[in-house]
Amino acid sequence: MPLQLSLHGAGRTVTGSCLEFASAGQRLLVDCGMFQGSRSLEALNRKGSLAEPGRVSAVILTHAHIDHSGLLPKLVKDGFSGPIWCTAPTADLLEFMLADSGRIQEGDARRHARRRDRSHREEQEPIYTEDDAMAAVAMVRRVEIGEWFEPAPGFRARLWNAGHILGSASVELEADGVRVLCSGDLGPKNKAFHADPAGASGFDHVICESTYGDRTRVQVTIPERRALLAEVINRALAKGGNLVIPAFALERTQELLLDIALLSRDGAIGNATAFVDSPLATRATGVFAAHLDELEDTGGVDIFRAGAIHYTESVAESMRLNTISGAIILSASGMCEAGRIRHHLFYNLARRDSTVLFVGFQAEGSLGRVILDGAQRVRISGRDVIVRAAIERIESYSAHADQTELLEWIAARGPIAGSLLLDHGEGGAVDTLAALARGRALAPSVIVPEIGEMWELGPAAPARRLRTGPEHIAHAVGRDWQNAYADLATGLKHRLEEIRDDAAREAAIADMRRVLDSYNAFRAHKRKEN
Ligand SMILES: [Zn+2]
Repeated sequence: MPLQLSLHGAGRTVTGSCLEFASAGQRLLVDCGMFQGSRSLEALNRKGSLAEPGRVSAVILTHAHIDHSGLLPKLVKDGFSGPIWCTAPTADLLEFMLADSGRIQEGDARRHARRRDRSHREEQEPIYTEDDAMAAVAMVRRVEIGEWFEPAPGFRARLWNAGHILGSASVELEADGVRVLCSGDLGPKNKAFHADPAGASGFDHVICESTYGDRTRVQVTIPERRALLAEVINRALAKGGNLVIPAFALERTQELLLDIALLSRDGAIGNATAFVDSPLATRATGVFAAHLDELEDTGGVDIFRAGAIHYTESVAESMRLNTISGAIILSASGMCEAGRIRHHLFYNLARRDSTVLFVGFQAEGSLGRVILDGAQRVRISGRDVIVRAAIERIESYSAHADQTELLEWIAARGPIAGSLLLDHGEGGAVDTLAALARGRALAPSVIVPEIGEMWELGPAAPARRLRTGPEHIAHAVGRDWQNAYADLATGLKHRLEEIRDDAAREAAIADMRRVLDSYNAFRAHKRKEN
């Protein structure tokens, strides 16, 4: 039986990465990620397309992000007992990333249980617990980049630097005389800490991510980006208030800390002091410090020990930041949906002398996006906050390759004798990249696989589909009503904001109310007819 590939996640979507390779009775997973986003997508965390997890032989993990690693504890809970192969930095990061995720699952289940008291919904167990997470961590085996190893009988593998986050790798696989490369998430050029993505060339099949398959970025060098940050810091601190930066705990926080440490050393931001107020970010920074020798562009600075940077330890220390002025405060979560950043926004958004700087992607509907879109009043933990702080944005920090860089990476992996399969991208991104790859003849066949599909990967021939995915998964990946609603609500808000005076705006709202009322009457009428 030739090599088979089943896609269990990240098909026409960017989360839940999980590729299953099967050969001669052995099953090997590349990544085992969690679905994140809409409720129907997150439901796949409980019931996805992976069958008999207890019979999976081994896992190779590309990197520690939860959308690639987050279902490992569930896999173990469901009976998996093989090794989990990854690089040493990924192993170190995984330890607290999975523990943190376990605590989040337990918290979600507790909140669900409280709601159940009121509405008699059926009980829901956590997807997994912190203990399950630690059981998964205990099964990790470390491998060096570039070193061949046998992840499961009949498979040979080696990892390549993917330049995305600390420890990230692409996976080269050989089985049944077929050579396959899985990109994992690929980093951009001009990324601090990591070399540009690398890889061998000449494969039967290449599976490549397509997150930014429809976007090209203006190339900004590391020194140019650092200078932009210096400008924002100096402008913000000259006003006398604080500079609050919501940042993802892993990688983005450390990139900012590196820039701040180097700017401070070079005298470019006076004697500004930065506080890191996120336990997860502090732990992640510790892993960076432990792997300092493997990092690039550090300018000889250890961000964990830089004088200009302080790490808060206790909640009391975190609270003391509420009363200070003239500080840089970095906190998570990056999209302001949870964590200590919400306290700092609560205390600083209302201050005319403070500044909030966004340096990462803000998803539609997140508090970060609402602030960035210019809301004049927001609600944080049940309290109204008037936005008086200055809002700034630097867009040139990124952990992902853009369209040009993805196409260059694919071309450098050629010749591809069989198929190029594109995953990890939403509809527009993946279809755009597929069209460009076909146009440039980067492979004899270019495929956009769907979740739940199974493909035969033969030598030097296009992949052949053996099975389509289940209906409930195709439905989950599509837009559900919550997405559609968020779209409608945002659109409505923008329209209302475009109306200049308050009276006209109120009249417009009254008109819409009348339309809704008449819609209800129309539905009631239809029900009677049926
Ligand atoms: Zn990632």
